Amino acid sequence: MKYQSTRGASEQLSFEDVLLKGLANDGGLFVPTELPKFSNEDLTRLATLSYEALAFEIMWPFVEGCISAVDFRALIDDAYAQFNHSAVAPLVQIDQRTWVLELFHGPTLAFKDFALQLLGRLLNHFLSKRNQHGVVMGATSGDTGSAAIEACVACDHLDIFILHPHQRVSEVQRRQMTTVLSDNVHNIALEGHFDNCQQMVKTSFADQSFLPEGRQLIAVNSINWARIMAQIVYYFSSALALGAPQKQISFSVPTGNFGDIYAGYLAKQMGLPIGQLVVATNANNILHRAISANDYSKQGLQKTYSPSMDIMVSSNFERLLFDAFDQNGEALKAEMESFAATGELSLPAEVYQNVITHFSSAALDDEDTLTWIRDTFAQSGYLADPHTAIGIGAAAACRRSDDEVMVCLATAHAAKFEDAVKASGVDQEVVLPAHLTDLLDREESYEVIENNLETVQSWIQQQVNI
Ligand SMILES: *Cc1c(COP(=O)(O)O)cnc(C)c1O
Repeated sequence: MKYQSTRGASEQLSFEDVLLKGLANDGGLFVPTELPKFSNEDLTRLATLSYEALAFEIMWPFVEGCISAVDFRALIDDAYAQFNHSAVAPLVQIDQRTWVLELFHGPTLAFKDFALQLLGRLLNHFLSKRNQHGVVMGATSGDTGSAAIEACVACDHLDIFILHPHQRVSEVQRRQMTTVLSDNVHNIALEGHFDNCQQMVKTSFADQSFLPEGRQLIAVNSINWARIMAQIVYYFSSALALGAPQKQISFSVPTGNFGDIYAGYLAKQMGLPIGQLVVATNANNILHRAISANDYSKQGLQKTYSPSMDIMVSSNFERLLFDAFDQNGEALKAEMESFAATGELSLPAEVYQNVITHFSSAALDDEDTLTWIRDTFAQSGYLADPHTAIGIGAAAACRRSDDEVMVCLATAHAAKFEDAVKASGVDQEVVLPAHLTDLLDREESYEVIENNLETVQSWIQQQVNI
């Protein structure tokens, strides 16, 4: 399988190169040049497999030629052995035709573990083959740093540095990062804001000369193709469990950067009979406006009860637009550059038509979110986290018929967002799963560093184990 940029550069790269590079040289995102297709006969055969075996079958065509089948299967087995549920991605029924797909049984209780547990192991595999060491650097406002840290902890060819704003993340969020005690895990509490953290990471990627000879920075953010690839699998596993290919299944997906739901779109292109794909957003609703009104325009950031979806632009939307523009990278490049300059984008009519063929959408504000947490609990006893509740609410808004089978992706465990659960009025104690109950008693390790680029970079340089 070869990969190309969404912005038209003619160069075609291997999976290994795409994994290590993250972004294409022309600023575009990598997409496969073709997709594997699964017939109904194939799907019927796949329906009997374990999650790990299915993951291998779905992802193998994307990596073939870069890694042996035995090695790839071992990485998959190891990645999903870190999950605390034997089904890996179990389904829970919450009404006659609605299921919740629980994607939070990984180490950090959120769906990002699905992609990152595998991504870390893949990076480590290729770096060790090249006899190289990589440096992962990222910024977090609290929520997503721990998933990247847990992804790297078992990887001896990776060092990870995560910057969080000092005293501006919750204790549970900080401890999920700082109690991972390993020589290759480095937490920096920056005396500044999240924006300062993010800017420092950006500047460091642009000029990596502070790193020791032979080291390179590696991005594990949601634009990395391997993350999308790993997320395709659970669309297959859940649809097959609910009767595909005989039945068509719809999905509702709480969305920020459009990575998770784009994986669902790919599953559909690969032959899975998916009905509608519901884009569920919070008040940061650029995607809902794009889909319902052809208005992809940037607005100010709003803080919500679903912080992992608090975004102004959706970086992975470009991957969908590439298809919607009939894979005309030149045309898309012009649109994306114009969007970067003006903050506004309205798609040509036929391109917009291509988008809405596959997607419907709804946006829920904080009040709606709390209502759906409360109502879901009242009607089924199911306690949804605020992100999941937005998916459930959007599914109800977009449902086309009573017998449409709808799967709502549960992207985080309710215990991670206790304040929203409390605010909803649900009278139920939210308890952390067993492997995290002693989180508040564990030893922590982190370095408080002044908001100064040189200080941060020289500390990183010292810590990188040569
Ligand atoms: C990251 C995240 C999302 C949004 O996922 P995207 O791939 O950015 O659309 C939704 N819910 C939770 C809990 C997340 O961490």
